[in-house]
Amino acid sequence: MRIGQGFDLHRMKEGRPLMLGGIEIESDKGEDAHSDGDVLIHALIDALLGSKALGDIGTYFPPSDMKYKNMDSKLLLKETLKLSKFEIINIDCNIILQRPKLGPHILKIRESLASLLNIDVSNISVKAKTAEHILGELGSGDAIAAEVTLLIN
Ligand code: MG
Repeated sequence: MRIGQGFDLHRMKEGRPLMLGGIEIESDKGEDAHSDGDVLIHALIDALLGSKALGDIGTYFPPSDMKYKNMDSKLLLKETLKLSKFEIINIDCNIILQRPKLGPHILKIRESLASLLNIDVSNISVKAKTAEHILGELGSGDAIAAEVTLLIN
C-alpha cells in the first residue's frame, strides 16, 4: 500500500463559479484560477501523483499553458488517472472555507468524486471546516483550501 497527500489553495473572487469535486456549489464567490479552480480536485490530483511519486499537478498541467485556461478540472483528473494504475482504497478530504456552508452539499461532492474515480462513495470522506474568521484570507472568506489524503494498493 502507498499513501498520497495533496493540498491546494485559491483566492475567491465574486462572479466566479465555486467548483468542488466536479460540481458547482451556489455561492457569490468562486475560485480565481487559471483552470476552473476546483481546489478539491487539484488536491486530489496531487495526492494521486504523490502516492506514486510522479511529481505534482504543475508537472503535467502547467498554469503557463493556455490550453488549461478555464479548463474543467474533471478532465485534468481523467488525464491523471491515465498516468498510472491507481487502485484507491480510501480518500479523506478537508475543505477549509468560511462560506457558504457545505453541509447540504457534502453527499453530492462525495458522489461526484465516486463517479469520477469509479469507486464506492463509502470510500470517500469529505469534511468541511471554517477558518473561524481568523487565518487571514481564509478567515475573511477571500480564499479556499483543500487537503486530501488517500491510500492506494
Ligand atoms: Mg489549484
